[in-house]
Amino acid sequence: MNVHTPDARGAFAVPTSMRYNAVENYIRNTTFDRPTLVLDTDIVAQHYQQLKAGLGNANIHYAVKANPTREIIETLVAQGSHFDAASRGEIELCLSLGAQPSDISFGNTVKRASDIAFAYHAGITLFAADAEEELEKLAEHAPKSEVYIRLIVDASEADWPLSRKFGCARDKALSLLGYARDLGLKPVGFSFHVGSQTRRSAMWTVTLDQIAQVWTDAHAAGFELDLLNIGGGFPAFYGEEIEGPTAYAAGVMKLVHARFGNVPRIMAEPGRGLVAEAGMIAAEVLLVSKKSNNDTHRWVYLDIGKFSGLAETMDEAIRYQFVTDRDHEDTGACILAGPSCDSADVLYELRPVQLPLGLKSGDKIMIRNCGAYTSSYSSVGFNGFPPLAVEVI
Ligand SMILES: *Cc1c(COP(=O)(O)O)cnc(C)c1O
Repeated sequence: MNVHTPDARGAFAVPTSMRYNAVENYIRNTTFDRPTLVLDTDIVAQHYQQLKAGLGNANIHYAVKANPTREIIETLVAQGSHFDAASRGEIELCLSLGAQPSDISFGNTVKRASDIAFAYHAGITLFAADAEEELEKLAEHAPKSEVYIRLIVDASEADWPLSRKFGCARDKALSLLGYARDLGLKPVGFSFHVGSQTRRSAMWTVTLDQIAQVWTDAHAAGFELDLLNIGGGFPAFYGEEIEGPTAYAAGVMKLVHARFGNVPRIMAEPGRGLVAEAGMIAAEVLLVSKKSNNDTHRWVYLDIGKFSGLAETMDEAIRYQFVTDRDHEDTGACILAGPSCDSADVLYELRPVQLPLGLKSGDKIMIRNCGAYTSSYSSVGFNGFPPLAVEVI
């Protein structure tokens, strides 16, 4: 029943839209007793190849946090992907599923010293940093390793910007390269993240201009950098138009080459763009109600909310698409909320969603393109609601 039968014949030739139907059909024909993310790893493999086709000789380091499901990591290992890990746990996961230490970067700029030591002894030699103290930790626990300096991005056009928490400003970048060298590390380049869900490749222009300026300054100061890590930001389809993976990646690489020339090593770290479209969530309507007799909006409560997988609805940043068996019926505006007893657990209220007027308790509701940042963002059981279940077809 729940058996995965890879179809080598047509697996990668089938258009993504048709492959969705495999997940959708499975959900339609299955009864779930809790919210469940259903994943199709063939789509992950397909997206890997599509991104790779646009990225050329840039290496893909999958950002494991987007979805650490075992079968996804295994699929990407088989595709030849590299990995970007943020913790000892993610490193152990990748190693246990066959990734080589040389293919794993430790990209978190805020690392526990014992995790650095673990990574170093496991054979990992590429680390990120954006501060003196982090470089000191690396020099002590991962001596002579390669390090790239993460730069701050302050002109993001992303739907889910990563803000000022990570990276350092231009004035600091060169002093950190020098400090890394003084500490016996090998400063090899820079990284940045344009912001998650950056919908069009042209939106990278301003950020790349800024990074290229620092790159040029570093070379002028005598640093022989050979690595540029362009991070993630590759978008998924949530209803607003985006470029396809290959065109998008090629568009970004064109902007990169125009500014940086031939960089020996380029890394890209897609998370969302690799896995979001590989999964759909099967959920259920628990209650439809009105707060007063003349309330213009219905409240629709689902069995999944902010704490059980839909954290990216925070500030209504990511707007998921919903599918029901009543989609042929007339629709009306709804405020959509999760099941928990926390008033923050409202998914969409500022911009209500249109759902069928006949929707009622017990109806199945499917949420499209949920393969990224859902299962990994689900709490262990707030209010006694189970974490998001994951099934791979
Ligand atoms: C989260 C993260 C990514 C992945 O970002 P997406 O927008 O999902 O592609 C890449 N690199 C780093 C360092 C990250 O923290």
